[in-house]
Amino acid sequence: MTKLSHERSKALFEEAQRFIPGGVNSPVRAFRGVGGTPVFIAKARGPYLWDVDGNRYTDFVMSWGPLVLGHAPEAVVKAVQAQAELGTSYGAPTELETRLARKVAELMPGVEMLRFVSSGTEATMSALRLARAFTRRDKIVKFSGHYHGHSDMLLVQAGSGVATLGLPDSPGVPGGAAQDTLTLPFNDLGALEELFARFPGQIAAVILEPVAGNMGLVRPQPGYLEGLRRLTREHGALLIFDEVMTGFRVALGGAQAHYALEPDLTTLGKVIGGGLPVGAYGGRREIMQWVAPAGPMYQAGTLSGNPLAMAAGLATLEEWSRPGVFEAAAEAARTLVEGIAALARQAGIPLQTDQAGTMFGFFFTEEPVRDYASAKTSDVQRYAKFFHAALEHGVYLAPSQFEAGFTSAAHTPEVVAQALEGLEGAFRSMVDGG
Ligand code: PLP
Repeated sequence: MTKLSHERSKALFEEAQRFIPGGVNSPVRAFRGVGGTPVFIAKARGPYLWDVDGNRYTDFVMSWGPLVLGHAPEAVVKAVQAQAELGTSYGAPTELETRLARKVAELMPGVEMLRFVSSGTEATMSALRLARAFTRRDKIVKFSGHYHGHSDMLLVQAGSGVATLGLPDSPGVPGGAAQDTLTLPFNDLGALEELFARFPGQIAAVILEPVAGNMGLVRPQPGYLEGLRRLTREHGALLIFDEVMTGFRVALGGAQAHYALEPDLTTLGKVIGGGLPVGAYGGRREIMQWVAPAGPMYQAGTLSGNPLAMAAGLATLEEWSRPGVFEAAAEAARTLVEGIAALARQAGIPLQTDQAGTMFGFFFTEEPVRDYASAKTSDVQRYAKFFHAALEHGVYLAPSQFEAGFTSAAHTPEVVAQALEGLEGAFRSMVDGG
């Protein structure tokens, strides 16, 4: 097999590094976790990305989750074009915002009202301010390996790009900003029980990714989420599901619908913007009424509820919630991970695979992964080799072991079958190449 050329990507990356730190606008894009040069993208359609050297890849990153319909779906492109003709931002209310808010509330059991912001980072930051305002308590609990964006108080044991770079947290985060952030291992209910006993009446909220996706895919153990719901209620703390990634992906109504649990607050992003920058936080009416101007907790945004993003998000959710669309994309993820597991067995390579709706993940470990400590035992060098072999065979996976993968409505059975052929070649070259 001839090696793909990446000459133009290499030249663009050199140039980018002159003007942009590390050449990228979000660290994991730089391929630091897997080595080599990131491919620069020229265009995308359906399940495919084309790089600037003309190589085509089947994409299982999907812009890190938002693109549930695939790239450039007609309904979204048309909605954005039509809205752009009418103006790109008004800084005044539009009907689109209410329509999208209603659609989200219809789909998500725990969301009665919501406020749009412009990123997942803003969503979690604001939800925690609200939880602190509502409970009049300061401390928050998060779990190691869970990523909730890059706000100071949450950049503690944060998985994702931080895990890839091997940083426990970041310089520039003042001790004071993180001092009320208590971090626990995921899937360990006893640890939370002890923490509530240690800080009685002081914990405002427990925030988590209900199915973790930022340390690779790690699902909650049976009964764990129910235990979190019970403990937070008993101790008067709010339970916040960060569904920025899992929202509309683990199930149409998010992880909360899948596990039939209502968190007090929910944070969203990614899918609700259909590929444009959006976030949101929502929840019970009684709590959301604390947000200004209905209530005293201040939070605002120049581009919040941006009409282009609202139009894209609405078109996306309308298509995505048509009967059978989600199920077909979830089936694609299932077929893919079953195929990958079979290929790894054939190649004699230990691999743990998992899938939740349209999210999937795999670890090069002997034992199943249940928390950050076990995720970190994955053979990252082997992942890097596999990543590059897959890329050579036309399959674009996350350029880090500590990320989830995603399917979309564009990943038809034929697309998945073709990708598995590519991955078979990738496994073969790993074995042949030693
Ligand atoms: N929360 C979760 C679960 C995420 O996966 C992410 C981003 O990947 C965020 C929050 C932050 O969102 P954003 O990158 O839009 O700020």
